[in-house]
Amino acid sequence: MQAPSLGGVSVPRGNGSTVVRLRHGSSLNDFADKIDANPASLVTVLFHLGEMATATQSLDEDTFGTLAQELGYVIEMVSAEEEDRELLESFDMDLDAELEAEGDDELQARPPVVTVMGHVDHGKTKLLDAIRSTDVVAGEAGGITQHIGAYQVRAEHEGLDRAVTFIDTPGHEAFTAMRARGAQVTDIAILVVAADDGVMPQTIEALNHAQAANVPIVVAVNKVDKEGANPAKIRQQLTEYNLVAEEYGGETMFVDVSAKQGQGIDSLIEAVLLTADAALDLRANPDKDARGVAIEANLDKGRGAVATVLVQSGTLRVGDAVVAGTAHGRVRAMFDEHGDPVVEAGPARPVQVLGLTSVPSAGDTFIVARDDRTARQIAEKREAAERAALLAKRRKRISLEDFTQALQQGKVETLNLVLKGDVSGAVEALEDALLKIDVGEEVDLRVIHRGVGAITQNDVNLATVDNAIIIGFNVKFAERVEDLADREGVDVRFYSVIYQAIDDVEAALKGMLKPEYEEAQLGSAEIREIFRSSRFGNIAGSIVRSGTIVRNSKARVTRNGKVVGDNLTIESLKRFKDDATEVREGFECGIGLGSFNDLEIGDVIETWEMREKPRS
Ligand code: GDP
Repeated sequence: MQAPSLGGVSVPRGNGSTVVRLRHGSSLNDFADKIDANPASLVTVLFHLGEMATATQSLDEDTFGTLAQELGYVIEMVSAEEEDRELLESFDMDLDAELEAEGDDELQARPPVVTVMGHVDHGKTKLLDAIRSTDVVAGEAGGITQHIGAYQVRAEHEGLDRAVTFIDTPGHEAFTAMRARGAQVTDIAILVVAADDGVMPQTIEALNHAQAANVPIVVAVNKVDKEGANPAKIRQQLTEYNLVAEEYGGETMFVDVSAKQGQGIDSLIEAVLLTADAALDLRANPDKDARGVAIEANLDKGRGAVATVLVQSGTLRVGDAVVAGTAHGRVRAMFDEHGDPVVEAGPARPVQVLGLTSVPSAGDTFIVARDDRTARQIAEKREAAERAALLAKRRKRISLEDFTQALQQGKVETLNLVLKGDVSGAVEALEDALLKIDVGEEVDLRVIHRGVGAITQNDVNLATVDNAIIIGFNVKFAERVEDLADREGVDVRFYSVIYQAIDDVEAALKGMLKPEYEEAQLGSAEIREIFRSSRFGNIAGSIVRSGTIVRNSKARVTRNGKVVGDNLTIESLKRFKDDATEVREGFECGIGLGSFNDLEIGDVIETWEMREKPRS
């Protein structure tokens, strides 16, 4: 239905409950696309609603809401994940429906995928090396020689030849980064604790991350070969964190190992399989198009984009058309961790894939598409969506400069800061000085994180979540973090002189304070005579007693010190017969107060204006 709208333009209208789904960061172009309208008409309609925007500019939910209501639509903002799901559905690749539809017949057992976590120096890397070299059942001549980001070992368990897949990047950081991207690849976590050192901060961090992700834990008590090793103490310490060893009546398997001497590795793998069988139902359908997660990727000079993919379901084959994040292509060749070519890869198998047009990010989902064209279209749509989201983010984050505006619009009340410095003394001094800035009541200054050292990914993530500004004192970005800050639109400022940092923050805080207004008296006039005019209402023949009477300024009328009319406007001002813009002290004039006619001789007309109060 077409109907004339605001501004005389014609826009297809909804019926008042027609739902339009838009992703965060959408523009009028996107909206126009959805309702089949001309973007220029939407710009016009929005303009008549009092908002100026270009067709390509990202708009917020409120603005879309206003526009949609006018046109008879209801806006639903969707997240990136939802949108991606819809995108895939539009290509007939409904992954959720696929999962639900799978019955017991199609599902087959698959190997568990394991990540090794724990405190630094407790032997994670060594343990991964040890496991790699125990892969005797497979009988590979050269053993595992390539680092491709994950590897699979085989072991005999209860008479069966079983495989276990290990993610070859130790630590919970990668694990959590992938989870943050919506990819959960790990089934079981091995928590490495050195028996000569005990439970340490990162041990606890790691187990928290695993528990948060609902991933069962197997504890590897490492370095039992060392003098002073006390494996019993580790078991006892970990009971505090809900990890109670089986021999103490709990459910967690603890295995004593020496990564260095290759002791206990078989038992550890056995424990992983036992835990997987007891706690998890690891099955997947190998007889369908593959989907998985990219766990590592890089650009190789000779081979182009190389991505290691962990297949999660289905089977990946050479020749498949694939899309991983915004990368797409056709699988040209696949290799395993031995460097051997692979023709097909089933569930839980890590393979290196050649043939993508660009390098995906770790954590990107990897799916097989019907054909090259579909793969390319999905990748392109994702890229466009990513770009739009990026622009939206850029606008959303705060910088020291745009604080004033954000505050005036009531969007923020707190300036969150992350402080990083080269030495702890400097960080403390900076924090003390910043917190001493007197900013009044309306604005809060909060230091949400402080630390020594380069500005890390973690700092930027924190600033992203809490809309904070990062201040670096005599420090730099850690490797690759600058890009991240840039992408996320986080304002990072570097200083080498403390007072400059303080000056900047103070200036921003003062500038950003909501302006306070006060009434400033302009002039007063006493009414001497009243002229009744049918055309202009009553005119007060007055003499200016102080200051100046200015046309169009605010006015009030007082009688014997009491206000009889307030919030009036000097609507007309005359010197004799001529219009005047202002009349100074001592002169006579005729004042018209619009429709306010309750005037008496002797009343005083005071005029005033609101002025911004300067801050000290
Ligand atoms: P990560 O930081 O957790 O990856 O720890 P590494 O695997 O790099 O190991 C840290 C140090 O502990 C290295 O010097 C290893 O040689 C040593 N180490 C690891 N496992 C053992 C072990 O079982 N016994 C002994 N004695 N030393 C070990």
